[in-house]
Amino acid sequence: MFCSSCGSLIIPNNGKYLCNVCGNEEKQKGENKITAKSTGKEMVVIKETTRVEPLDSEAVCPKCNHKGAYYVLKQTRAADEPETAIYTCQSCSHRWREY
Ligand SMILES: [Zn+2]
Ligand SMILES: [Zn+2]
Repeated sequence: MFCSSCGSLIIPNNGKYLCNVCGNEEKQKGENKITAKSTGKEMVVIKETTRVEPLDSEAVCPKCNHKGAYYVLKQTRAADEPETAIYTCQSCSHRWREY
């Protein structure tokens, strides 16, 4: 994942996502709601600033059958698991994942 503060790539270490560049600690997706409880400040889901996603022209959308989707690779929790690709349909913005 990428640091929401400075945009650097963050390598997970002991289950934590600590940015080596600016020291910002990212929360994993899904944990945001729980960790934000006592701050009183609404936490917005990580916004990737400059997002240039590669296009997979061979990916077929399961919803509208459009051929062509943007994808991002996400490293799953365990390091020995393969990366998951999150596809976003170019046509209908439907999202799905592939392993
Ligand atoms: Zn950072
Ligand atoms: Zn689609």
